[in-house]
Amino acid sequence: MEKIVSLCKRRGFVFQSSEIYGGLNGCWDYGPLGVELKRNLKDYWWRVMTREREDIVGMDGSILMNRNVWKASGHEETFSDPMVDCRNCKARLRADQLPDKNGEKYCPNCGSRDLTEPRAFNLMFKTYVGATEDESSITYLRPETAQAIFVQFKNVLETSRKKLPFGIAQIGKAFRNEINPRNFTFRSREFEQMELEYFCKPEQGPELLKYWLEERLKFYENIGIPREKLHVHDIPAEERAFYSKGTYDIEFEFPFGIQELEGVAYRTDYDLTQHIKHSGKPLDYFDEETKEKLVPHVIEPSAGVDRTALALICNAYDEETVTDEKGKSETRIVLRFHPRIAPIKVGVFPLLKNKEELVAKAREVASLLKPHMMTFYDEAGAIGRRYRRQDEAGTPFGITIDFETLGERGDELRDTVTLRHRDSMKQERVKISELLSILLPQIQ
Ligand code: ATP
Repeated sequence: MEKIVSLCKRRGFVFQSSEIYGGLNGCWDYGPLGVELKRNLKDYWWRVMTREREDIVGMDGSILMNRNVWKASGHEETFSDPMVDCRNCKARLRADQLPDKNGEKYCPNCGSRDLTEPRAFNLMFKTYVGATEDESSITYLRPETAQAIFVQFKNVLETSRKKLPFGIAQIGKAFRNEINPRNFTFRSREFEQMELEYFCKPEQGPELLKYWLEERLKFYENIGIPREKLHVHDIPAEERAFYSKGTYDIEFEFPFGIQELEGVAYRTDYDLTQHIKHSGKPLDYFDEETKEKLVPHVIEPSAGVDRTALALICNAYDEETVTDEKGKSETRIVLRFHPRIAPIKVGVFPLLKNKEELVAKAREVASLLKPHMMTFYDEAGAIGRRYRRQDEAGTPFGITIDFETLGERGDELRDTVTLRHRDSMKQERVKISELLSILLPQIQ
């Protein structure tokens, strides 16, 4: 994990938030490579969860909402973790994550067993809306994106004219004042979620829960996380929320343990019913066939962008020993990202930077590719070093413009380039005019 954290900083994936002021615990900034990785992940989710389907539409809700939303959803009352204080070192700890020795819990910080009784700590960040800071202006930064979908259910239903079963998808920031943010970006206080609320008739619920679990597992495979590294945890009834008729956690083998990436939960009609009760508005659905009104049930696949991005980096990280042309062996660090989510898709390199024609041709190739994919032009240093830099960034393809490209070794090779593949390091000769048709299908 240390190696991954250091690579993330060194290569510009993730930085500590407010670093020059000592940071802010649980908050992270994504650098140039990190932001591309996250964007590719979110774009792919959005594509398969909305654009490629006729039964799901998207929305983008506000982060601040009327406080009554959080009263109705139960978050104000119960969205809390049990917290204890260590009387010795004053550390605040999550009671359900304490290590124990011979059945006795102790402080992981100082080892003391002198801990307070657990008490509920609400995870929502409280804030005030408007110029007065009093009880009437309190609200919270949303701790999940889902509630905006529930409270807009009727508007979306009416404007999209969807029939059950149908879904509403959303990607956005969520905030939780976690007691112990840890494991790098895994448990943060500010993070992004990708959530789908898939509404259905009650009798369709159990089948659709299984369907969505399978769909979501396929999603992770399609971004390069093999099924062997994913675990499905079927949450037993006594550990589920009381309204849930089934919840699966999709977990990944992180270097720090097997941990949750996503929850797929059958939430029944709990959320809509709560909002009907509290708002007094009819959030029901009229079934044209049976001519009856019903409150739809809902299946919720809820994934974390940051956790998935971290899983992608952990999964991609590899070190191997390679031998160069001179017989010297070195360690190659390579991020084996699936081309679909790799931050940079292709590196473009003129063989030499002091040969004007090579540089001009390389720039021309880069301009050809840029509108279609993230392209990185690099002319600095030996070509081997440039390849290594892109290996470390996870760039799946490298294109080198050399004297053959310029036609100096005969007309047959004119306007061809070497295309290098990151994983095998194999090189092939391809025509510039064929580059897009070769690369595009692999990165989509
Ligand atoms: P955990 O048990 O790890 O606290 P949770 O079960 O409370 O997570 P959910 O409420 O189901 O999480 O949220 C759905 C998803 O949102 C999680 O699977 C995770 O990917 C993401 N998520 C939740 N809390 C955080 C956090 N503090 N930092 C980063 N991602 C988070």
